[in-house]
Formats: sequence, structure tokens, C-alpha cells
Amino acid sequence: MNELTENKRKELLNKLIEICKSNLSKVDEDMISRAFLLSYEAHKNDFRASGEPYFLHPYQVAIIVASEMPLDDISVVAALLHDVVEDTGFSLGFVANEFSQEVADIVNGVTKISGVFTGHNLTQAENYRKLLLSMIKDIRVILVKFADRLHNMRTLEFVSQQKQRRISKETLDIYAPFANRFGLGEIKWELEDLSFKYLNQKEYEQIAKQIKSKRKEREIYIKKFSAPLESKLREHGLKFEISGRAKHIFSIFKKITKLNTTIDNIYDLFAIRIILESNDPNECYYVLGVVNQLYNPINRFKDYISIPKKNNYQSIHNTVIGPDGKHVEIQIRTRKMHEISEKGVAAHWKYKESFNQTDAEMEEWVNWVRDIFTTVEKNDASNEVLSSFKLNLYQDELYAFTPKGDLKRLPTNSTPVDFAFEIHSKVGFNCIGAKVNGKIVPLNTKLNSGDQVDIITSKNQKPNRNWLQFVKTHKARTNIRKFLNQEEEKIILSGKDIWDKKLKKMKKTFHQDEFEKMVRKQKFDNHNQFYAAIANNQLDIDEIISPTIEKVEDKLPNELEFDEFAKIARSSSKGILVDNEYRGIEHNFARCCSPIPGDPIVGFITIGEGIKIHRRDCNNLIHMVKTGEHKLVPVSWSKDKGASFVAGINIRGEDKPGLLTYISNSITTFNNTNIKAINISSKDSLFTGTVAVYVNDLEHLNRLIERLKKNKDIFSVERFDATS
Ligand code: MN
Repeated sequence: MNELTENKRKELLNKLIEICKSNLSKVDEDMISRAFLLSYEAHKNDFRASGEPYFLHPYQVAIIVASEMPLDDISVVAALLHDVVEDTGFSLGFVANEFSQEVADIVNGVTKISGVFTGHNLTQAENYRKLLLSMIKDIRVILVKFADRLHNMRTLEFVSQQKQRRISKETLDIYAPFANRFGLGEIKWELEDLSFKYLNQKEYEQIAKQIKSKRKEREIYIKKFSAPLESKLREHGLKFEISGRAKHIFSIFKKITKLNTTIDNIYDLFAIRIILESNDPNECYYVLGVVNQLYNPINRFKDYISIPKKNNYQSIHNTVIGPDGKHVEIQIRTRKMHEISEKGVAAHWKYKESFNQTDAEMEEWVNWVRDIFTTVEKNDASNEVLSSFKLNLYQDELYAFTPKGDLKRLPTNSTPVDFAFEIHSKVGFNCIGAKVNGKIVPLNTKLNSGDQVDIITSKNQKPNRNWLQFVKTHKARTNIRKFLNQEEEKIILSGKDIWDKKLKKMKKTFHQDEFEKMVRKQKFDNHNQFYAAIANNQLDIDEIISPTIEKVEDKLPNELEFDEFAKIARSSSKGILVDNEYRGIEHNFARCCSPIPGDPIVGFITIGEGIKIHRRDCNNLIHMVKTGEHKLVPVSWSKDKGASFVAGINIRGEDKPGLLTYISNSITTFNNTNIKAINISSKDSLFTGTVAVYVNDLEHLNRLIERLKKNKDIFSVERFDATS
């Protein structure tokens, strides 16, 4: 084990910067040097399984990023630092400070992806691929991660056989298909061949051996085939490059398996490619004509120039019978077509992979990412392109594991309760707690992609109304609602039962009209509420069935008058202010306490009826809060500063001449209080009046009431509210 000498380090850094300069449009040398130094310092005491200094790994990853998938200098820096946070004592915050948040975010993304697959059986590859995507917020995370994986695969011979197989399987199932789809065609081939080498060493070596043993033979044959063709093309003054194409081992293996044949029978082992230096597609057809004059074509001609593949791949594919009756596959294309194809646009995934193609959204996104890869050219102002790199696919989904390693797909911000219902409605109904990554968490905890969730159940647990505040999935919501409705129905039915039995026992009947009126008088919006109140023991039924006469007469002025007044009073306010979180939810005023502007109020979240506004001192509310798991939200009256609201005052006194004048004068001269309406009646020398006044606040109102009370002919002055 050797440390790297200073000279060696200088040499390495210079090489990296050289590669960056020749591949990238803009290179911040200082930034790269600093990242190089930090990475070296951080990994100074670590060594790889091969015995090399660990630093050479991030260094090689940076070289791969800069040379094989060049995008920008930020990705190179992130590659140098990609293992620093995970493996050494440096924090993400430190990286963000020393470099930028952007770099730290990429490093963090790479670390997160790396951890998520370990310890799981990759039985649902498609879901794992989606999980991977859901965790990627910056395309450069993919680049660095793929470069990291490529370098690990290239150096896999030094780790244990078990690890070789695990990493190779992961690479073949997860990374290779993505490399292909992201347009990293060459990297895909290499990842596949390397994985195949460790997963099926015997087959790999056999095919490799056969390819090697036939190489000489093949080269000679290709020469024999090409020679007359080359001279013909030169005669016509064409500029071109002609080359034999190497087939990749894994793709040969797949073909042999698929056709159930041997390597000798795979005709396109003889494959050549003609690349024209011209940009004129017509030349391709011209060359095709020349080829067909020399050799007999067989019926395998495909014209992807006039009809490009969906991913813009363009080329002519032709198969002819060459010397000795052998089949030779020929591709003809222009330089530009070739470049697009090499960059991966032409990666044959769409036609060759068994990828699930039903997911149109994913298709679209992958196309978009590939476009980015292929349109970023060396001279692009890379910053502009990169700013549009924020990925959004699967950002509205998350993938979480069951303890057995099954993946569940959920909307973002889903909670353990959603997860529980995703497993089974029974698990949801009985869910009492949850462990996320081994830690017990509250049921409303927001899950993240990659979390392992263990639901704790209890037979006695039942869905809680509160859960509706935080669940995200339709499944959980409807199940909880259904359960609560059933429970509520039970309560209503039992209340109705109590009511009917009581009526029968007391030999009373209520006419429909009478019943409606009574329910309204009890301040319920509907029968169900009334029955539920009975079931919950909140009503004195005896009192309702045979009320004491005094109480009824005492209710003055009657409710309808108050309703009318409340309407006027509320219209003087600009409405109700609620927290942003609840904005847009409808609200209405509770009938039990009928708040009017100026009353201290609080909102109460109901199911199906939005926010009910109660007075803060409402008895009903206090009772409900005590018994239930209900949620209160802060609300207030919307009022311009200094603006007034309407309040009502009830006055009772002796019906003496001049009393009305006294009242109106007292009001209007007090602090310039304005009267909105006044309404009086007298009976048996009793004066009863209701005055609606504009006041600034409750204090103003209270002082006005005190002032009116000073007249000895007035018995009582009270704030007019629903319970007076
Ligand atoms: Mn690494």
C-alpha cells in the first residue's frame, strides 16, 4: 500500500484538468483543484480492496464523468467528492460551504441512491428502477452514480464472490437498463458485459474465447469483403470510414439463447459500418446501391433514414451475401447520424428491452432526459441548460419497503397510515403505530422514498377521525370515511331508538312540523345531529318532550329575530380570516353559539361541513373538544383597523315617556356611536327594545352598555346574542 507522492498527485490533477478542458465548454480549474485536494485529504487513510489508495476511485469516477459522459465541471467536482460525506468525517454542510449547495445536493443524491438497494432482494426490478428515479432530483446525480458504478464494475475482481454477484445483479437489473434509456449506450454495453462476466462466468468466457479465436479469421474476412467496396466508393469520390463492428458479449449471449442456436450461426458477427463524412443523406442511398451491385442483398433491408426510429435514430441496415456465402450485416449512415447514435439516441432499448412500455409518463420523461444528453453540446452555455435540469418525474410519488422488502408506491407526503391501508384494509383499520427505519414514529409522519415501514397493529384499534387530516391515498381516505360513517350511523340509530322509546313511554307524538321546529330550536342543523346528541347523552330528552313553560317564554327576543340580526351583523364584517393552510375551505357559523363580529371565535374542522365558527366560550364546543379528537383552527374576524361592526343590545325597562329618546341620545352622543336599527315594543307598561349599533370593539360595546344601565327606568341592558 503506497501513498501517492506529491508529483504523482500533480500529474493526476493535470491529467484530469486536461480531459475536462478538451471535453467541457467551461472549466473552473480552481474549483476542480480544491475538490481534488479535499477528496485526497478525506480519503488519505483509506485503501481499496485492491490495495490501491481509495482516492483513486473518486478520481477515476471523475475521469469517467469528464471523458465518457461530459456534461459540466460541477459533475466532475461532485464525482471527486461523491464518497467524501458518506465515508469520511466531512459533512454535507461543509461541502456546501466550501463549494456550493448544488455540489452538496448532487453528492447527497448519489449517497442516498447508493444506500437504498443494499439489503434488499431485487425481486421487483421495475419498481426499484422507479424508486431510483423518484430519488433523483438532478440529472447529474445519475451521471455521477453511473460513473461510480462503472468504475466499481471495472474493479470488481478484488471483492468477494458474493459481493461480485450481488453488485452485478443490481447492475444488470437496475443500472444497465437505465444507462441505455438515458442515452448512455456504450456504458450500458460495458455494464452488461461486466455483470454477465460475474454472473455467468462460464458462458462469458466461452463466448469471449470464441470471439477471440475467430478474430483473426473475422478480420481477414472483413478485409476481403471491404476491399472491392472501398475501391468502388473511392472511384466515386466519396469520403468515408469503413470498420468492422464488435458485438458485445452479453448481446451475443442473449441472441444465442433467444434463437436457441450457437455462436457460429449468428450471421451478424460479420458486421461492418460505413460512415460518410458528408451530411447528405442521399449519399447513403448511393452507397447502398454500390453495395448491392457488389453483393446480393437478402431480404433484410431497413431504411431508418427516410423513416427514423422514434428516438431519431437514422441509418440504413442491409444484409448481403458476401464471399463464401456468408451473411454480412451493413450499416450505412452519415457522420452526424453516427454521432447521435453513439451518444445513445439510437440505443435500441425501445425495441429490444423487455421494459414495461405502458407507462407513457415515464416514456416521455426518459425521452426528455435523453434529449438533454444529446442536445448539450460542447459550446452550449451549459448553465442555461442545467438550470432546466431539475427532474420532476416521480417527484409526486414515493417508494417505501415493507419489512419483507416489498415495495409500495405512494403519493408524496404519505404517512404510515396510508402505507398500512396499502398493505391491506385490515392492517389500516388496526394500525396503532409504526416503525420507520427501525424507529417508532407518530402516525402522521411523512414517509420518504426508500424508507422501510413496519406497521404495528392492535385488534382494538379503530380508525380515528383525525387520520383524515393527514392521509394522502384515496384508499386510506375512503376506507376511513366508510368506517366512520358506519360508526356514526350506529350512533344515530341508537339515538333515534332512545328517542322513539321515550316518546312511546310518555305517550307523546311529534307532528313532522313540530319535530322540525323543535330540532331547530335545539340548534341542530338536521335530525341526525339531534339523534347523535341524544345517543351521546348531550340532551335532556324529558325537558324537550315536556318543557317547563317558563323557559320557553323566557326566550326573548326569539331566534328568528336573532338570526336576522346575526345576518346583518355578519355582513358588517369582511368575513372570516383563516390560516393559509385552510384557505379555500368553506366555513359557516355554528348555530349553538351564533357568533357575531367582535366575539372571540375559533374554527372547528368538521367532516363534510368545512370549518364551523364557534364562539370561544361556547359550551358545546368545549364539550366536543373534550370528547373528540377534533381539530381547532385559529380564525378571526376580518376587519379594517378602526372599522366598526354591528352589535345588538337588548334593553328592558319601564315604559315611560321619553325613554326611547333617552336611549337614542345616550347612544349617539357616546363616542359618536351610530345606530343601525332600533326596534321596540311595549306591553303592560314593559318596554322591550333591540338596538343594533356600530361599535369599534367589544370594549366600546361594554362601555355603552354600562352607560345605558345608569338610567333608573331601565331594568336590564344586555348584549343581544343567541342565548339571551
Ligand atoms: Mn464510489
